[in-house]
Amino acid sequence: METILGIDLGTTNSVVSLIQNGKPIVVRDGAGSTILPSVVGFDQAGRLLVGQEARNQALLAPERTVKSVKRQMGDETKITLGEQQYSPQEVSAMILRTLKERAEQALGQTLSKAVITVPAFFNDKQRQATREAGELAGLEVVRIINEPTAAALTYEPHSEKNERLLVYDLGGGTFDVSIVQIERGVVEVLSSHGDTHLGGDDFDELLLNYVCDQFEDEHGVDPRETPAARSRLLQAVEEAKKRLSDEAFTTIAEEFIATKNGSPLNLNMEIDRLDYEDLIRSLLDKTVTCVDAALEDAKLTAQQIDRVILVGGSSRTPLVRQLLKDQLKHDPHLEVDPDLCVAMGAAVQGALIAGVDVGPVLVDITPHTLGVRCVGDLNGRYSDRLFSPVIQRNTPLPAVRSEIYYTGVDGQEAAQVEIYQGEHDDATFNERVGELLLEGLADDADAGSEILVRFHLNLDGILTVAVAERETGLEKQVTLENAITRFRASSRDEAKSKLAAMFNDSDTESLGAATRIAATSTDPAGGDNRVEASRVAELLAKARRLLANASSEDADEMRELIVQLQESTASGETDRAELIADQLSDLVFYLEDA
Ligand code: AMP
Repeated sequence: METILGIDLGTTNSVVSLIQNGKPIVVRDGAGSTILPSVVGFDQAGRLLVGQEARNQALLAPERTVKSVKRQMGDETKITLGEQQYSPQEVSAMILRTLKERAEQALGQTLSKAVITVPAFFNDKQRQATREAGELAGLEVVRIINEPTAAALTYEPHSEKNERLLVYDLGGGTFDVSIVQIERGVVEVLSSHGDTHLGGDDFDELLLNYVCDQFEDEHGVDPRETPAARSRLLQAVEEAKKRLSDEAFTTIAEEFIATKNGSPLNLNMEIDRLDYEDLIRSLLDKTVTCVDAALEDAKLTAQQIDRVILVGGSSRTPLVRQLLKDQLKHDPHLEVDPDLCVAMGAAVQGALIAGVDVGPVLVDITPHTLGVRCVGDLNGRYSDRLFSPVIQRNTPLPAVRSEIYYTGVDGQEAAQVEIYQGEHDDATFNERVGELLLEGLADDADAGSEILVRFHLNLDGILTVAVAERETGLEKQVTLENAITRFRASSRDEAKSKLAAMFNDSDTESLGAATRIAATSTDPAGGDNRVEASRVAELLAKARRLLANASSEDADEMRELIVQLQESTASGETDRAELIADQLSDLVFYLEDA
């Protein structure tokens, strides 16, 4: 059976997992470590360092080292490392490539496919950049899934009954909270909220400033001003912060952290957990507000949540548990390792795609509303900036939705469709993610003729928009301009070669060659069926969800098709299953659009 890696590409640490004997395991490096610090750098001789080695040199050579690159994924920025500049995708690819090699060494075979996790709140650009990074690392990214959803996938329900989980994921750079329902083996995300720029890194900054302010008050010198000292202190406060999760107070001691009048100054400071908690409380309050919003979106109360699951290193902070307990009247569960469960869940998802039955099936949702800009009433005023949603936030994926719009003038020649992502009524406050121009409209058409806009959002969160003139059938479609398409083929090849050289590949072709070997070693016929297995499961989950609101006639037909589909897949009648799946898809599609 083909192995699909599960990768948690974290802001601070990354983890790779794969399925062995039907269970997800985390792959360790030669020294036995389960995590890989998400830090990349070059040593003095220009040798690439990824992980702990890079983290170690961050102190001495911050100009040759980069951390938390995940925060820049999807941005157009370049990261300077020594003499060279890299895109965030390229830096992430170095981390992914290292994890891929770690897993290959453990298994003794070439691996070329992965499921990679992203925060639920990552937008389309950030997801595309992640996919791009995987591709640069020689990995086919078979699915991108949300981190909290992945965490829920490692959770094995103890009973047949419907369970509702609240997954609170606070990592180094991002925060997500999701309400997840597990029912008869199907995992469904009911709602999701978060902040892509909130996490342990912010706590480190706050603590650093607290320490440095006190030091400056005492000595009149600010150690933050020297990059090397700042970097050393940042590492020291992070370690202190972690100790404060277990201890009521701790000491930060750093020698020769600054100089005054030519004499070296040492830092020696005791930090009380309560003082630290005061520093971070407002940020944690923000996360609790998100928890409330997620519950509200899922139309649930705290009492209706069965379990609270903590994910991400920063969720080890005692104040997190305290605030959640106060708010939800639940003791959070600690049975799943918060550092490892996301990668393990991604491996579970990979196994599901490969057709291995390891656990519940995933139904994912879109975290943002997607829609178009149009003319209409915006807060009582006639405006051309009205945001008209097409796919609402929290819609299960894959989703297909259409809306009808109207031309504004007689003989209008073209329809300009601007696509936005966000929740604001004024489109210009949302993120503009693409546009499409449908030219050559019927010249005799009056104002008010219909333009059909259809959005198809796939399981990876990639959006295809089709626009058609209803009357003539004139149609145009676009798969959104994104990081991949902007990253032109030439620069992608160049980046691949650069990466291959850094990893000492014998020649630049070897990345591609590794991919080819793995691809031909899989059984193509079996491959189709394996993909089918997860499609069927998703279809069944969708159909079941629609049962409640369907008319009794439709519901009867759907139940019948569900039973037939289960029987035919169980007995291996693939042709029949295919036929029934098509019928059920049509019915689901019709009911969803109704
Ligand atoms: P992640 O992105 O999930 O790997 O989480 C990394 C973040 O968790 C970093 O900001 C770490 O400093 C933080 N972290 C790790 N262990 C602890 C701990 N014991 N207490 C508080 N924060 C921690």
